Amino acid sequence: MFSEWYEEIRNSIFSTGDTPSRGNASGFVGLPSSDDPAIGQILWDEELGTGGRLDDLILETSHQMKQEVYGGAVYAVVPLYATSICMEECVYCNYRAGNKGIGVERIRLSDDELIEEARYLIEEKGLRTLELVYATDPLVRADSMCRHVELLERLLSQYGGGSVGINTEALEVEEYRSLVDAGLSFAVLWQETYDRERYGEVHLGKTKKTNFEYRLNAYERMIEGGIKNIGMGVLSGLAEWRPDWAMLIQHENYLRQEYGLGAAVLGIPRLKVAAGALLKESSFIPTRQEFLVTVALHNIYSPRTMAFVNTREDWELCVDLSKGGGCLFTFNCSTIPGGYSLGHRGYQFPTHSYDTATYVGRLQEQNLHAVFEWTLNEVESNSNEISRKASRHPNNAAMSLS
Ligand code: SF4
Repeated sequence: MFSEWYEEIRNSIFSTGDTPSRGNASGFVGLPSSDDPAIGQILWDEELGTGGRLDDLILETSHQMKQEVYGGAVYAVVPLYATSICMEECVYCNYRAGNKGIGVERIRLSDDELIEEARYLIEEKGLRTLELVYATDPLVRADSMCRHVELLERLLSQYGGGSVGINTEALEVEEYRSLVDAGLSFAVLWQETYDRERYGEVHLGKTKKTNFEYRLNAYERMIEGGIKNIGMGVLSGLAEWRPDWAMLIQHENYLRQEYGLGAAVLGIPRLKVAAGALLKESSFIPTRQEFLVTVALHNIYSPRTMAFVNTREDWELCVDLSKGGGCLFTFNCSTIPGGYSLGHRGYQFPTHSYDTATYVGRLQEQNLHAVFEWTLNEVESNSNEISRKASRHPNNAAMSLS
């Protein structure tokens, strides 16, 4: 399990003291792709995030690689919150148990309400990939989640099909297996931070989520439970972002080595202060440029992992993060259960919402086209086919710093 390697891997990142050695940017970024996790050392390059030559090279290389494989296609997904009732005490979240009502309604949707929300998103917005999202609700356990997956799968089949993913607490192997049996297509879980000490500071109490190792090993339980498409990520800004991203890449590398499976989805939430959160500021939040370049660097590390571009960010940044395509893209967004069709108000964290009616066209103006009917498995096999052809193309020249 990754938790057994955690110390060793973390120490290897910091092997030269507090500041990791700089990576040789030209050695990594000049390649068509690099699956070497040492690429993470570039994060410490003093030029990174300054808008200089290194940034340009990383951004252009990422754009070119994504464009070649995905041709500007972005894949529409929508979060569908089932409950805002939570037992956890994450200090950065509006839904933490101790928040007694600042900007938040506590709502648990009934099955009928969940279906009404989903039907609205399917019929009115054309969305076909639904991400079920859960707070840690004592009355909504894995059996309820399985029922929800089945209900939504059944509903989607009436409209020609689609896929259902899940974003919930870390679960047991058997629970993941039941979700797969129910028809789940993907599961995403953000580690939040790989800094064990900081993790303890921002997850209070003695709850399940405070168990750092249990969360670290969740991806392996997902794989053991039969989930083929997993989503990994950190909440950028919770702790020092460079080590968090370097550790994330190391974790992906570990899963590839051990299980032959990397991340299908890359979670890229960046901390936004919520009204009812205890954490009111953070000195760790990467700047826009640092964030953009870091995601692009990850694209070079793993071009077939699709960044989950989300409405925490402004429209211009969403577009910049999507350059070349090959990402998940959120248009309409509500983080309160029943926020789409049932008139509920409130939020887990501040977001925008980019209505499909307007914003699909605006994406098109940026040479990005939204795909609504897709599955991760289809995208994966198409991208493999395209990249095989591209790698045989004589003009497939690599960029270089020199
Ligand atoms: S981040 Fe999730 S688990 Fe933590 S308080 Fe918020 S909803 Fe609950």
